[in-house]
Amino acid sequence: MSTTADITNTDITPISFSHIMYWHLSAYWVATMSFLALDYYWYSNGISKYKFSISADGRPFAPTRMIYKAIVVAICNQIVATPFIYYITEYCIDQSWQLSLYDIYYIPLYFLLYVLLADQWFYWTHRTLHMNRFLYKHIHSIHHQWVFPMAIRAIYAHPVEHVIGNVGSLMIGPLCFPINGALLCLWVTSATLNSVLAHSGTKIYMLTDEAHDMHHRVLLCNFGVMGLCDRLFGTHRTARIRPEEVYNQSHT
Ligand SMILES: [Zn+2]
Ligand SMILES: [Zn+2]
Repeated sequence: MSTTADITNTDITPISFSHIMYWHLSAYWVATMSFLALDYYWYSNGISKYKFSISADGRPFAPTRMIYKAIVVAICNQIVATPFIYYITEYCIDQSWQLSLYDIYYIPLYFLLYVLLADQWFYWTHRTLHMNRFLYKHIHSIHHQWVFPMAIRAIYAHPVEHVIGNVGSLMIGPLCFPINGALLCLWVTSATLNSVLAHSGTKIYMLTDEAHDMHHRVLLCNFGVMGLCDRLFGTHRTARIRPEEVYNQSHT
């Protein structure tokens, strides 16, 4: 059971940049490579029943050169984001606010706050990128080059979008409500996996829905992380998409 002493315990391992990066990068690459292997298997065997949507040729995969391009962009974006994550974890987290990992009463509360803040942050930065023609044309259109999302394309984006939108939504919660380093690793891992799952286009009971897949097909709906902001501000969509609505920038 937690005590007041737990909350001010200075023996707790402080939040470490290397810990955060280890969990963030491990979660991202293990998950994306697993989905890539699955997609390739399904593609090779002509299986699409596990995908929300499929490409124009009826197969759930993209050409090899696009896969390589997505991997290179992901690595570049992770390098660009590293100084920001370093700065946030090393200098902006108030260590005196640490909570014990064993204080189970606070874990759901903090994670709820983090999810709500991440949804707000991602929703508004994402929606702004769509509403402003200049920002969409020069920044966000890169993320939408492919209509059908794959896990490996989760952070296929302009570096400015990656740092402000993706890293911002990941770290806005810990910045506003700092917690123990172990819980921060858990949050970063969960949020990273959520982003990969949202782009996987794969039907996984209770873990994925079609919302972000749908966003990639018709653009002006489902801007948020968890759907709360979309429901609040009238952009949530579950209705069936008509063929003529599908966005067609270049690739499928
Ligand atoms: Zn996306
Ligand atoms: Zn978008």
